[in-house]
Amino acid sequence: SAGYNAQDAGDDNMFVQTLFPNDSKSMMNYIKVYFPTKRDYILSSVRYIIPTFILTFILLVVFTCTIFLTFRQKKLSEMKNDFINNMTHEFKTPISTISLAAQMLNTIIANIIHTFKIKEEKYGGNIEAILQAQESTVNVDEMHFTNVIFNLLDNAVKYRREDEPLRLSVSTKDIPGNRIRIEVADNGIGIRKEDLKKIFEKFYRVSTGNRHDVKGFGLGLAYVHKMVCELKGEISVESELNSGTKFIIILPLTKN
Ligand code: ADP
Repeated sequence: SAGYNAQDAGDDNMFVQTLFPNDSKSMMNYIKVYFPTKRDYILSSVRYIIPTFILTFILLVVFTCTIFLTFRQKKLSEMKNDFINNMTHEFKTPISTISLAAQMLNTIIANIIHTFKIKEEKYGGNIEAILQAQESTVNVDEMHFTNVIFNLLDNAVKYRREDEPLRLSVSTKDIPGNRIRIEVADNGIGIRKEDLKKIFEKFYRVSTGNRHDVKGFGLGLAYVHKMVCELKGEISVESELNSGTKFIIILPLTKN
């Protein structure tokens, strides 16, 4: 055409086609189609795709970083948990192994109550032992089991009501399935329903509606729970606010 300028037409923008392929070589004619705005056209059609690609790339980088940081955090939190577990263990149990031996639970509980009576009387309270279990031979570590009952009794004194003399009871009875049920009950300040689920967790302390002047780390019941589980037993708690709390421990009895 008249406007055709061979210099302007780069190879990219030119389409060449033989006009009559059956003609002899000397008579061969070609049609050349030149699109001067081809590059602009392509650029304008991909203009919106480029930011999308950049955004996707940024998102990918951020996502990868998040995953990496999450894994690092997880590792750190596992390390922290391990450390806390070890600390708790050393805190509460100077002896690291449990040496299980067949023990007469009534005897152990009677000794604990005897020791505890002195502390209880200081607060003008009263501790009652209702030891009804006929069979009471269990496989426990005496020191750990004593700690368990002591922790529960200690809590009953710590979380007593100021307006009422403290009444405490420890009872045992045999239950079906060759098991023994031990109950430690108090008439203290009680625990709210929403806190009951968490009191066996490490470092959990009831914050509101409870006594703030009582010192503690929130480790006592976590230790009690761990010990009872180690002894293949179960622990549960029933409580009513301003009325009292009852901890129930069920342990498997040992034959002979
Ligand atoms: P600590 O006594 O050191 O705070 P524990 O693990 O022994 O830790 O107890 C956890 C929480 O459970 C206590 O902070 C307390 O609020 C509550 N609690 C435990 N025992 C009793 C109880 N007998 N009466 C009322 N609240 C209790």
